[in-house]
Amino acid sequence: MPHKDRICKACDGEGLLMDDEEWRYTCSVCGGDGIIDPGESLKPSEPFSVDEMNRTLE
Ligand SMILES: [Zn+2]
Repeated sequence: MPHKDRICKACDGEGLLMDDEEWRYTCSVCGGDGIIDPGESLKPSEPFSVDEMNRTLE
């Protein structure tokens, strides 16, 4: 059971969405795992490389 605060509201934690014709497809909001990772949208994996790029551009 996913953590309550992290359950994807788009699919209610199921990881699947259903369209009008009842076709099930992977939820694009959570990527199909039914859980929203707080850092998922931020992608802070390489903040320093971005900073370096900005400085290089200046
Ligand atoms: Zn979802």
